[in-house]
Amino acid sequence: MRDRLPLIAGNWKMHKTPAEAREWCVGFRARLPEVPAGVEVVVCPPFTALEPVSGALQGHGAWVAAQTVSDQPSGPHTGEVSASMVFSCGARGTLLGHSERRAMGETDAMVAARVRVALASGLRTIICIGESLAQREAGVTVEVLAAQLASALAAVDPGEIDRVVVAYEPIWAIGTGRTATPDMAQEAIAGVRAAAANRLDANLLRILYGGSVTPATARELMAAPDIDGALVGGASLDPESFARIVEAAA
Ligand code: PEP
Repeated sequence: MRDRLPLIAGNWKMHKTPAEAREWCVGFRARLPEVPAGVEVVVCPPFTALEPVSGALQGHGAWVAAQTVSDQPSGPHTGEVSASMVFSCGARGTLLGHSERRAMGETDAMVAARVRVALASGLRTIICIGESLAQREAGVTVEVLAAQLASALAAVDPGEIDRVVVAYEPIWAIGTGRTATPDMAQEAIAGVRAAAANRLDANLLRILYGGSVTPATARELMAAPDIDGALVGGASLDPESFARIVEAAA
């Protein structure tokens, strides 16, 4: 019997102005007046909407996270945003190592440095890992995931496990409409959990699935014993779809 609290995270990517973000919050609160018992909910807007979304979700129960943070605490880093800055805008966590950022050149070492700074700044972290289609077809999925995980978890003190979540997101499933089957996701996530046991108490570690999750697929995915929730991109942009995914996890 799993006793890890399911987490549903919505990654808005580069969508929604502050006004559109506030409108989303009004719609989400109307649809789901409070976070149901038995699930945790986090919304990850762009930096520019962190403060409006934090304000608009006050008292609702969902918390807010950034989509990344700098690997530096402060200084001459034009265009970067620090962990303490997002904290001051109401974020209590951050995504890190999303494949769309890795595709722009973010390395495992850079992800690990961001993990360290984020945790030191009091943020929770949702660390994204995932294999490409070519890697899956070459049969190296387990090795790829284990290497990404080992690098990121080396930046985590085992005592910080309650502020760390891992999101398994096969790159070929992100934004493609091609969801991994529950069996595929379960198999990969069970492997990730086994690999995490080298570093911390893996039974306490929440591991999400991400990649084209919709209200139609969420319940079946989350019924798998090792899948502790979902990181949702496209379907989180619509409050109705996101609310239905939250309800599927509760
Ligand atoms: C994501 O951005 O993390 C994601 C999983 O996107 P989508 O749900 O649109 O595939």
